[in-house]
Amino acid sequence: SSIVRIENVFKEYTLGTSRVHALKDINLQIGNGEFLAIAGPSGSGKSTLLNLIGCIDIPSSGKIYIDDRDTSGQTPDQLSELRARTIGFIFQTFNLFSVLSAEENIEYPLLQFKELRAAERRERIVKFLDIVGLAEFADHRPNQLSGGQRQRVAIARALATHPKIILADEPTANLDHKTGEGILQLMKDINRNSGTTFIFSTHDAKVMAMAERLIRIEDGQLVGEDAVHT
Ligand code: ADP
Ligand code: ADP
Repeated sequence: SSIVRIENVFKEYTLGTSRVHALKDINLQIGNGEFLAIAGPSGSGKSTLLNLIGCIDIPSSGKIYIDDRDTSGQTPDQLSELRARTIGFIFQTFNLFSVLSAEENIEYPLLQFKELRAAERRERIVKFLDIVGLAEFADHRPNQLSGGQRQRVAIARALATHPKIILADEPTANLDHKTGEGILQLMKDINRNSGTTFIFSTHDAKVMAMAERLIRIEDGQLVGEDAVHT
């Protein structure tokens, strides 16, 4: 069954008196557990599409179903709840709090779940730091970590809330090629081991090649799809 279903989605932005048609009639289904790349040049609509899937923004028209819920029928509070319980985000600039240690960054989003006790938060911090290979760096702040290590903290933070979907907007854009490949491989291993759905954008051909499914977007429209390797 589909974890994401997008039907006839359009997104327009208003800029002064002009309109930008960022997405034009997008139709897409993403199965639970997929490892999917959205590939396209800068300005093609990748971030817009990820923001809509992540319920950070809403379409101008069309429907988006996340885990079989129609997001258009939800109040802003319900959307925040859906986002918090279902989606994890990874960004190209990592978006870690610079004054917090690695473990505090991972704990931060867990604090919103009142049902999680301190011992359970601790258990998740330890587990996910270990999964990303940073057990020894728990008390390091971001400026004491390399770019690749920062992105690993961000991956652990995204996983710690037990999301069904991880959305990663250009996760390797600020990393050198070898480090970026390591991050992609880590994401792929986690995808295989946990069944978490990963959807990531990229304009890097080598990163695209690591996807299991690749959809191409140009000028706001899906222009093709390749099955890569499995
Ligand atoms: P990509 O992620 O592929 O670089 P984006 O989704 O960021 O593409 O942008 C798609 C188009 O929408 C571009 O023309 C961009 O300039 C425009 N756009 C994106 N966000 C906004 C915004 N908040 N206001 C106006 N135009 C925007
Ligand atoms: P629990 O016993 O706490 O429920 P599980 O092992 O069943 O723990 O996993 C809980 C969450 O952790 C699930 O969301 C699962 O997808 C995720 N998870 C488990 N193993 C891994 C792994 N190796 N990598 C990433 N996420 C994992």
